Amino acid sequence: MNSIFENTATAFALKKDAELERAYFLFKMIANEPLVRIGTAMTNFAIKAHLPVEGLIRATVFDHFCGGINEKDCMPVVDKMYTKGVSSVLDYSVEGKDDEDPLDNALETILNVLDFVKEKDGIPFAVFKPTGYGRFALFQKINEGKGLTDSEKEEWARVVARFDKTCKKAYDLDVALLIDGEESWIQDAADSLVEDMMRKYNKEKIVVYNTLQLYRWDRLEYLKGLLEKAKLESFKVGMKVVRGAYMEKENNRAQEKGYKSPICISKQATDKNFDTVVSFMVDNLSDVSIFAGTHNEESCYKLIKLMEEKGISPNNSNIWFGQLYGMSDHISFNLAEKGYNVAKYLPFGPVRDVMPYLIRRAEENTSVAGQTSRELNLLKKERERRKI
Ligand SMILES: Cc1cc2nc3c(=O)[nH]c(=O)nc-3n(C[C@H](O)[C@H](O)[C@H](O)COP(=O)(O)OP(=O)(O)OC[C@H]3O[C@@H](n4cnc5c(N)ncnc54)[C@H](O)[C@@H]3O)c2cc1C
Repeated sequence: MNSIFENTATAFALKKDAELERAYFLFKMIANEPLVRIGTAMTNFAIKAHLPVEGLIRATVFDHFCGGINEKDCMPVVDKMYTKGVSSVLDYSVEGKDDEDPLDNALETILNVLDFVKEKDGIPFAVFKPTGYGRFALFQKINEGKGLTDSEKEEWARVVARFDKTCKKAYDLDVALLIDGEESWIQDAADSLVEDMMRKYNKEKIVVYNTLQLYRWDRLEYLKGLLEKAKLESFKVGMKVVRGAYMEKENNRAQEKGYKSPICISKQATDKNFDTVVSFMVDNLSDVSIFAGTHNEESCYKLIKLMEEKGISPNNSNIWFGQLYGMSDHISFNLAEKGYNVAKYLPFGPVRDVMPYLIRRAEENTSVAGQTSRELNLLKKERERRKI
């Protein structure tokens, strides 16, 4: 078992030679940190200046990391991946909009996605992030336990209504719903809202999944508390488990404001925390569902091993593995080939609006962040195998 991820023929079976070459070229470019920095600045400038760069972006990074500009546009990718047993999570990746209009637009988009995916076997989940549905500062104010003004109370009621409308629709249509995790200083407010949704919609099946960011050292305790409440009140817990994407921001803020950082003291401590929480969840599989969102091979192997030890079949509907589209195909496609449940986040949105998402992917794939050498080596190995 300990080498299933090395099979590059399975990992890249869907990529034609030309697509493999494009991916290789792309990862070579983004391995170069100065180039990414300059490229990011130039792209931001070009977009702001309305220069005609969208075609170029679309043909390169966009097509590698995104499914299309709208949900229909994503279908060829969804269908293709599903022929290999890999499902998709359509992810509307437009971020950082604070006024009401974009929030309502996000709601409309997610509701449309739910309608769109309801009868599509290849798309078992929808996803949104809390600040897609409410203003960041409002979440923060609630998180800090500060009183709201009358108009803020009304605004919050609209946020709650957006969550409820989405979760109810997901429940009615039988589509599972992942809710992303964000910065710790808004997360308590989001958590308690998502808990209410689980209370309402996770009675007989698991529809609503919150996210546990396991670079946070307090999450096991949080999960244990939640599970106790769930058992007492007869609802089930859906959880996406990830390590967490805001580490630097979290540590910087804690240092600036002089409180203890919520982040584990080292990468090893985060890894250990991840394993401990996943193991706790597997032990409680009758009450929880796991969506393991990770590109870490070791974490995937450990979860596989736990499943084997406990006689849990690979396609048990309470355990999913998740990766991002355009990354770690060696994990996704090899797991799917062995019968495990796998879904890739497939971002979509207008090219200029998904730029922040694309820039983050490029940055996390620079040689500094270290992911790229792995992607590059795998692509290289497959090129050599195909002799191209
Ligand atoms: C399908 C999917 C969904 C996701 N959804 C979310 C989400 O909702 N919210 C969110 O925040 N992120 C989300 N992420 C991103 C995720 O949190 C990680 O940033 C990313 O996946 C890298 O972690 P890893 O487990 O893949 O692997 P690795 O590369 O092994 O881990 C890297 C991670 O380890 C942690 N880390 C690194 N150095 C240290 C250190 N010195 N001390 C402590 N910890 C350290 C950080 O979290 C870092 O991102 C998602 C990822 C995937 C694949």
